[in-house]
Amino acid sequence: MGSSIRSALSVMAAACCIVGIAASGALGWLAPNETKVSELAPGVFFRKAQTEPVFIGCNQGWIEFRDFVLVIDANFPGQAAEVIKLIGQHTKKPIRFVFDTHHHGDHADGNVHYAKQGATVIANERSRPLFETTGLKGFEGGKKTKAAEYADLPYEMPTLYFDRKFVIDDGTQRVELLFFGHGHTAGDAVAWMPKHGILFTGDACVNGAFNYTGESDTASWITALTAMTELPIKQIAPGHGELSDKTLLEKQRRYFQELRMAVGKAIEAGKSLDQIKAELDIPFYKEWAGVEAKTRVENIEHVYRELKPKA
Ligand SMILES: [Zn+2]
Repeated sequence: MGSSIRSALSVMAAACCIVGIAASGALGWLAPNETKVSELAPGVFFRKAQTEPVFIGCNQGWIEFRDFVLVIDANFPGQAAEVIKLIGQHTKKPIRFVFDTHHHGDHADGNVHYAKQGATVIANERSRPLFETTGLKGFEGGKKTKAAEYADLPYEMPTLYFDRKFVIDDGTQRVELLFFGHGHTAGDAVAWMPKHGILFTGDACVNGAFNYTGESDTASWITALTAMTELPIKQIAPGHGELSDKTLLEKQRRYFQELRMAVGKAIEAGKSLDQIKAELDIPFYKEWAGVEAKTRVENIEHVYRELKPKA
């Protein structure tokens, strides 16, 4: 998800319970779902965020090592506070690390809550200039909305950056933080647990109609997803949407392949962006994501800009 929608989302996050009840009653077609926690392997937890009738933030993971906890994705500040409480109900071990899969506010704006407890925030080094520019700007935007969860909070950027791979292994758990290239953003990284075959993907791979492409390179994204398929994956914990298995990488990749092909052919046929938006049809996408591809206007516009011959 992107920073441009941060303000609205953070307000929604603060009001999720009330809005959820009201919206599910008034709009019967929106099937509500709830935030839920699963233990994917001993000491490896996945917290799936509610997405309907309102989106309250990103999915998160946390991993209990022998002496400490690693959190995957900080989430919005309000959700971060919830997760810290939740982890405290499971273990008294301190949260020592938070890994931000990328700089977007719904994954990273809650960093400060973990840092206040002494945790180190880790991210890929290519995300550093993004934290320092769009990330910071988005955070300030969040504060300006006066959303209670942002009140008086400073922006906390990662303090530990890695290049292609960063390993945390204490003999009980092993997590490899891996960079596969420019996908959803230039600084995406994922968390791989080779002993369990679990991949936490952040927004590099999501399950459903959650892709934001504004800072992406969709050609490179396809290459990165292809490289991830080399891992012996049993389970995928995506940044948004339900848990899945390795087939999710193929679905995510296929969407960008088919979107690029459809938009590219339409450009060749001389169609305008408005025509493409009206006519785009990717039947597979609806089967997977539950909505028509033509509703993903931001994605269509981005790919159109990528593929349109430069003047
Ligand atoms: Zn994102």
